[in-house]
Amino acid sequence: MKIDLSNYQTIDFEKSDLIPAIVQDSATGVILMQGFMNQAALQKSLTDDKVTFFSRSKQRLWTKGESSQHYLHVNSIHTDCDRDSILVLATPDGPTCHLGTQSCFAQAAPDFAFLGQLNRVIESRKTASADTSYTASLFAKDISRSAQKVGEEGVEVALAAVKRDREELINESADLLFHLLVLLQKADVPVTQVIENLQQRHK
Ligand code: AMP
Ligand code: ZN
Ligand code: ZN
Ligand code: ZN
Repeated sequence: MKIDLSNYQTIDFEKSDLIPAIVQDSATGVILMQGFMNQAALQKSLTDDKVTFFSRSKQRLWTKGESSQHYLHVNSIHTDCDRDSILVLATPDGPTCHLGTQSCFAQAAPDFAFLGQLNRVIESRKTASADTSYTASLFAKDISRSAQKVGEEGVEVALAAVKRDREELINESADLLFHLLVLLQKADVPVTQVIENLQQRHK
């Protein structure tokens, strides 16, 4: 667990016993839910690796997922500029909302988050049987097949751009992104490492 404790020590519990805590999906950036943490809830979240809130309705510590098993596994915990709110980056075990949706803010779907979600769906097909889905059938084939696919789609993207065919450029780019995600997974390279590489270059 990566904990940004630099500010945590001084989270301003003087201002209020209960601090708003936002939970964001580490892989997709989707905001999953918001709850409140007191000192004990924060401490438990730090030590147990599962997000724990102080529930105002239950009036006790509440580990999200304690009955549904849809835990939120803590990857990192941050505070804001004036140390009066908490942001938790986490990996959900299942739908976070008790109504069954991925997020309690069910309607909020940031565009880029979908790539992360798609990547997760692709990953879930790794273990599916080849005749159940197209993606699963790709995992059954050798990596050279995916490599070839990425090469072809890359060329198709380039041709569409040169032809100034917007519709085709969008379609072929979608093909390329999909097959690139599949190829990376077949090569056991997490796309997050590619993102980290881009971040490094940006520095
Ligand atoms: P859980 O912590 O997922 O086992 O759910 C236990 C209970 O907490 C549910 O029956 C709901 O009353 C409540 N609950 C679960 N998830 C949420 C949520 N995301 N936001 C607010 N309340 C929740
Ligand atoms: Zn603040
Ligand atoms: Zn909810
Ligand atoms: Zn194509």
